[in-house]
Amino acid sequence: MYKIMTPGPTQVSEQVRMARSWECTNPDLDEAFVEFYRDTCEKISDLLYTNNETLILGGEGILGLEAACASLTEPGDPVLVLDNGVFGRGFSDFVSMYGGVPTLYSVDPRNTMDVEALAEYLKEHHDFKYATVVHGDTPSGMLNDISSICPLLKSYGILTVVDSVSAMFAEEVHVDDYQIDVLCGGSQKVISAPPGLTIVTISADAKAAMAARKTPIASFYANLTTFAHYYEEKWFPYTMPISDINGLRAAIDAIEAEPDMIERHARIAAASREAVTKAGLKLYQESGFSNTVTVFEVPEGVTDRQILDTMKEDHNIMLAGSFDFLAGKVIRIGHMGNNATYENMVETFCALDATFAKLGVKLSAGMRQVFEETYGSVNE
Ligand SMILES: *Cc1c(COP(=O)(O)O)cnc(C)c1O
Repeated sequence: MYKIMTPGPTQVSEQVRMARSWECTNPDLDEAFVEFYRDTCEKISDLLYTNNETLILGGEGILGLEAACASLTEPGDPVLVLDNGVFGRGFSDFVSMYGGVPTLYSVDPRNTMDVEALAEYLKEHHDFKYATVVHGDTPSGMLNDISSICPLLKSYGILTVVDSVSAMFAEEVHVDDYQIDVLCGGSQKVISAPPGLTIVTISADAKAAMAARKTPIASFYANLTTFAHYYEEKWFPYTMPISDINGLRAAIDAIEAEPDMIERHARIAAASREAVTKAGLKLYQESGFSNTVTVFEVPEGVTDRQILDTMKEDHNIMLAGSFDFLAGKVIRIGHMGNNATYENMVETFCALDATFAKLGVKLSAGMRQVFEETYGSVNE
């Protein structure tokens, strides 16, 4: 087995794996499961600082993005798609697929969304039913300031759909303060459970917009309204993946038990960026650094494949390249959730130092050493 240091899926603890092996009940008929499901959802709402309802859907993170678009979009609806990254732009496909008319607001993928420029744009263009916003755009390591962007959109009556799949629990997410209407998360990133589950929180305004539709939602699996009375009626729209949810609950309990989770990610990420830049490598981002992934450009003279293969073959560590417009251009170290420990990062940078030496890339400093020094210089 490789040590996975990818930006999702992440390492899964034994606690979570054990919870997934518990004996199963019938989740359709056992009322205790309905209670357990709701209790888990309420715990997630609490951790995201919201009174909005949370749902856990049986399907990998992408399901949440599609379900939000499927449930909100009616044919012809104008939708603003904020794009400064791969997932940002990708939302336009989901909007179009359900008959919406996306307007792309495309800006520099190396810099965090400029909120003042967006405010200027909105003065002239604000006739949108909802907007899509990516919190952490993982392929490039982008972090957008949802605490400013979402209230700004909401001030024009524009509902917000936020993809925080790779950011929630590692970055601040205060759903009610930020006025987020639909927030999407996934099990396999910071949460550190295996892939397979989506988390969504849905505001009263989003529910009202779904209820006010004149046309039916063109999906069953991606229809967020089918869960409306599950608790009262003790009836789920489809059989819930009980073992996945047992595992998720164990992972959520671990998050609840670690109040300093955001600080842990911030400290690891800051030391990683320092290690990369002191070594003479170039971070992809110029501003807006996600604390869940460090993304640096593939240096001259080598390919991403050579770096990734050497890391795997010589050191048993799996890093990631990227895709879309970043394919072949960058290497990504995922330090989210269980990956984000001092020991994992020291091992990774030690292996990267050796990998670059083997491939003949001269670094201006040892990454392991810079990481250790920077990490250690922060007062505990
Ligand atoms: C991981 C991720 C998703 C889920 O998509 P997969 O590529 O299928 O894992 C959605 N949005 C973001 C920003 C992600 O990082």
